[in-house]
Amino acid sequence: MTTIKELRKVFGEFCKKNDFQLNPDKEHLDMTLEGVMINEKNTGLRFCPCRIQTGDLKKDQWILCPCNFKQQETWQKEGRCWCGLFVKK
Ligand code: SF4
Repeated sequence: MTTIKELRKVFGEFCKKNDFQLNPDKEHLDMTLEGVMINEKNTGLRFCPCRIQTGDLKKDQWILCPCNFKQQETWQKEGRCWCGLFVKK
């Protein structure tokens, strides 16, 4: 199973060439990453930690992490993904 450290590294790499970064609030970041890891442990997939899965992968594909958060209202208004895992640089 993925560790928080590994997941932080993978998502950190994802941020490098983008206009967002991992949330600098380490406590919030680790809590969110842990939620992703729990979902991975329970389902085999890295689902969003703050949205409810339906059990239908066709519908749930939109909440695999990272999702298309730049299209979310929270990104436009607050500069963060829904869960605050990623924030604007
Ligand atoms: S809202 Fe954030 S934590 Fe949730 S899936 Fe999207 S990127 Fe991941």
